[in-house]
Amino acid sequence: MLTLDAIRSAPKALLHDHLDGGLRPGTIIDLAAEHDYRDLPTTDPADLAAWIRRGADRKSLELYLETFVHTVGVMQERDAIERVAAECAEDLAADGVVYAEVRYAPELSTGRGLTLDEVMAATLHGFEIGQARAAAQGHRIVMKAIVTGMRQFARSLEVAECAIRWRDHGAVAFDVAGPEKGYPPTRYLDAFEFVRRENFHITIHAGESFGLPSIWEALQFCGAERLGHGVRIVDDITVEADGGVRLGRLATFVRDRRIPLEMCPTSNVHTGAAASIAEHPFDLLRRLRFRVTLNTDNRLMSGVSLSSEFAAVDAAFGIGLGEMEWLTLNAMKSAFAHFDERLRIINEVIKPGYAHLRALETRVLA
Ligand SMILES: [Zn+2]
Repeated sequence: MLTLDAIRSAPKALLHDHLDGGLRPGTIIDLAAEHDYRDLPTTDPADLAAWIRRGADRKSLELYLETFVHTVGVMQERDAIERVAAECAEDLAADGVVYAEVRYAPELSTGRGLTLDEVMAATLHGFEIGQARAAAQGHRIVMKAIVTGMRQFARSLEVAECAIRWRDHGAVAFDVAGPEKGYPPTRYLDAFEFVRRENFHITIHAGESFGLPSIWEALQFCGAERLGHGVRIVDDITVEADGGVRLGRLATFVRDRRIPLEMCPTSNVHTGAAASIAEHPFDLLRRLRFRVTLNTDNRLMSGVSLSSEFAAVDAAFGIGLGEMEWLTLNAMKSAFAHFDERLRIINEVIKPGYAHLRALETRVLA
């Protein structure tokens, strides 16, 4: 089994992580005091973290999403967003993440008068500050932003236009998130069509709490290049009694086209999309060689880091260093950064990093 130290020191790439799902508990308390936010259930960091985790682990996506009221509640001012974004970069870098696409819905931070563009500016500036601080501590990380539109609001086209305005400053894709049931991806077709006409990128939360129609619409109507979660694709896979496996048309398409699945096993256990890590479709999908990637979703709500998530799947399925590298390369190949940047990170950071760890693993004691 991989040690947590080995996992932490291995270079990792993260494609699915929410900015408002990864705040440090102490930062929530500081920001609440600074900005006169009075709704926190406690002002003790450990109690707050425990309260949020309890709230998230209720086997329902809708209940899970309720816990974001306090993180979003303290992200209504420019300096607050900047601090959260900077600490996000620092925390990921300290965990050995070398490339991250962190997503946020700017419309969530407009409650006290900020515009979408002001939220984006603060987020991206925060990422730059965090990258610089991490580099000063010897951890290099490349941070990108995915701009999310919330399903339950009706501003997705406006958000998509905002994403395009920030494309040369660190925004790499457009996404929709939020409750899946009752909000099929085709509701936001105008936004997706706009993004496609601009030659920009799309990932969509689909197939998390809702099934195949959501995945089908995301891919075939909305032009999603990746699937946020996408775990319900297993509904189109039949495992026969003799162990034989049969893929339906949609699952075949997803595997043939190498559509990346941004899988977040612990989060799925908390929202009820999977009963446990051991029973998570991650195992079947990786064995069928889908383009699987491993992600955190919401580090605070689920109490995870990318390293702890790798440790959890290693404990459940024994992935070892070889498959950890495969998952990392899957993620880096599927990233929305430009090709030259992805290639540089693969060749100069990821491959040498794993070669070094393999050399340590096989070193003969002298
Ligand atoms: Zn998500």
